[in-house]
Amino acid sequence: MTNAQLELVAGLMEKAPVIQLTGADSFDVDRLWTGDYPMITDDNDIFPCDMLVLLNDKLWEELESKHLDINRFIVCKKLEQVSPFLVNNKEWSVIIDVFDMYVLGKLDEDKRPLPSKFRMATNYAKTKFKELINGRQLVSLQIADERAKTCSTCVVRNDDRCTHCGCYLTVIPEDEIIDAGEPGKIFRADQECPLGKWRKHE
Ligand code: SF4
Repeated sequence: MTNAQLELVAGLMEKAPVIQLTGADSFDVDRLWTGDYPMITDDNDIFPCDMLVLLNDKLWEELESKHLDINRFIVCKKLEQVSPFLVNNKEWSVIIDVFDMYVLGKLDEDKRPLPSKFRMATNYAKTKFKELINGRQLVSLQIADERAKTCSTCVVRNDDRCTHCGCYLTVIPEDEIIDAGEPGKIFRADQECPLGKWRKHE
């Protein structure tokens, strides 16, 4: 790890003191180990902890079944492994993307807040107006899948919501009063990413 990456992890340790560090060299361990933090260094298994730092490629499959053992953060360096995990486990959001390092968080307090109710209502009204005029057009599953992968690793995503526009990304949950169970933004042809990461297909 670079000095900047080490400082990032050390800062997170104040919020997530029980850390498992995998694939690290002795330099990393020496720099992070202060004596105050319980730290596990093991490459082969995932143990219950507050923060898992994954510096190798080995444990992503195990994470699918064991992520409930991680209380707050997962730190990793490669997005290719992150995306499939995040598509399947939306409660984990990318909360930091700096220094070639990604921090995933699952607590609400660490994630981006939704936009104002006024902004969400305005966006909703625009979407419904378009749907009224043009009918509801859906994209192919392949396009929806590509959009889902892009959204999965976006720091603007909070669970299944885009915090830039407030829209649900895959499905509007049953407990919502309006449009419960309807497909979300990534399935709709007239929708586009507000940050230009994917486009509409009309
Ligand atoms: S729609 Fe765009 S900004 Fe919103 S979560 Fe997806 S990629 Fe990010």
